[in-house]
Amino acid sequence: MADFRASLTFKNDDSQRLIIESIASKLTQRENEVRNMIINNIVNYGGAFEINGVTDDVKEIIISLRDKNALAIAEDNKIYSIYPVSAKVTNHKVTLKDGREFYAMCAVDALGSTYTFNQDVTVNSKCTECGKEIKAEVSGGKIVNLQPADAHVLHVDLKKFKTWSCCCCNIMHFFCSKEHCLEWSTKNNVCKDSSFCLDANEALVVGRMLFSDKE
Ligand SMILES: [Zn+2]
Repeated sequence: MADFRASLTFKNDDSQRLIIESIASKLTQRENEVRNMIINNIVNYGGAFEINGVTDDVKEIIISLRDKNALAIAEDNKIYSIYPVSAKVTNHKVTLKDGREFYAMCAVDALGSTYTFNQDVTVNSKCTECGKEIKAEVSGGKIVNLQPADAHVLHVDLKKFKTWSCCCCNIMHFFCSKEHCLEWSTKNNVCKDSSFCLDANEALVVGRMLFSDKE
């Protein structure tokens, strides 16, 4: 099967800079199982995942997942961040077709979560520059409804940063328009060499690369 990455193009950016392997492809089968267990635990029950309650072999796998940048362990020994899910409230609320709701770590994670859960999602967010409500409905791997229609996503060059949760998710936001994406980036001194203002469809493709386990 041809890798969909091979034929990707982006309007304003060199695709080679944006192409990235999935998180799942870096993990063993057992690591993926534990990752999915923790993701679903946070989504089903809300709140952080308690590491203290698990067996030693699962603990070991959690350490390995952290070392591979699939999750972060907080000082209180709980997991609040496991891509694409955040146990803390963020600006990116996701509603799954099955009715479950959660917060995503960043805009790309919110869109890409359609692949993590293999189902349609609705994302509700806000423009980080002006506060305007943003809504994206993803169905069958496509954005079928986007409000406002020019909504953009600020994305960073993930290949340049080792620990995404500290320096990347903090700026990977939604914007109501390309203008507001660029304006906010300039005001906040986001490095132009390592960031991209993507349209929502491009951001969904990046989410597919990160979160689609099977391709
Ligand atoms: Zn705006």
